[in-house]
Amino acid sequence: MTDWHFAPGQKFTCSQCARCCRGWRIRVDPRTAEQLKATPFRKGLEEKDGSVFARRDSQAACNFLGNDQRCQIHSELGAAAKPRGCRQFPFRLTNTPDGIFVGTSFSCPSIQNNQGEALEDYRRELAEIASSLPLWGGDGVKVWQQSRLGWSEYRQLEEFLLGRESVEPGLAEGFWALAQWSLNPRRPLQAYLEWSAAALEPPHEPLLLMELHWFSNLLAHCGEKPAPPKGKKAPQEPLEAYLRALLHGKTLINRRPLLGNLALLYLIPGFYRHWYELSGSVDQALDQCERKIATHPNNLDDLVVKMGGDFRDQLEALD
Ligand code: SF4
Repeated sequence: MTDWHFAPGQKFTCSQCARCCRGWRIRVDPRTAEQLKATPFRKGLEEKDGSVFARRDSQAACNFLGNDQRCQIHSELGAAAKPRGCRQFPFRLTNTPDGIFVGTSFSCPSIQNNQGEALEDYRRELAEIASSLPLWGGDGVKVWQQSRLGWSEYRQLEEFLLGRESVEPGLAEGFWALAQWSLNPRRPLQAYLEWSAAALEPPHEPLLLMELHWFSNLLAHCGEKPAPPKGKKAPQEPLEAYLRALLHGKTLINRRPLLGNLALLYLIPGFYRHWYELSGSVDQALDQCERKIATHPNNLDDLVVKMGGDFRDQLEALD
């Protein structure tokens, strides 16, 4: 029987705000595309680069969004007729050797505000989506090039980060430990994790310089510049909840190397504060982090791989 791991304490009920129908490029999975092509909804589909997408209007809203702020496919054909990504949102399912982890997208206001039913109540409808998920971590987790961490050692890294009172200070330590392990995998990761706090005391200047360099690079990739400080102090509690949710949702394991993903997670607090400075809104800051950096963007793949390598090279040069 499959073990399910729902984000602890997280609740959700859709408030029909339609945020998830705006601003995204919604890919339609092949099975759903075939079914929709046999209906009048085919006019709302377009093909690009071998994939099918939902057309968008001039405001970047999905063309299937009705004036009543509801999905017309859902209203007319039922929830099961919607594209897979739309059926799954705001959940993020990852199938691992320890079972299925149910993470969430903090782009959704109901998730951010923790409003609604317990996530466990959605198990039945999620089971259908989960039945076709690939397994991640069965043969370990790719750290960098050929090096792979066994699944239980990967979980030690997660536990190191989640077991702390505050996740943020542990991110630099976790990254340092993982990079050191990738340079010398004969020692267990746990040993590097235990040394990491002492190794980064006083603050590790090369790591801080890489943080600034890559923060600017990624911001430029999003078409933005660093915000001039306005003195707005972003609340820490939502950031802490967000970082924990990302770790629970297995944001560190996907087709990119773990080293790059952990470097990206290490930069998330800076992005949260940047977008809070600009908007003065926790909701906007988290939404931007999700859309542009953390969970959803695919266009960062190459940069994330390069970033992990850059950080690692910097540490290697110091040895
Ligand atoms: S963003 Fe969340 S609350 Fe709003 S419509 Fe989408 S799932 Fe529902």
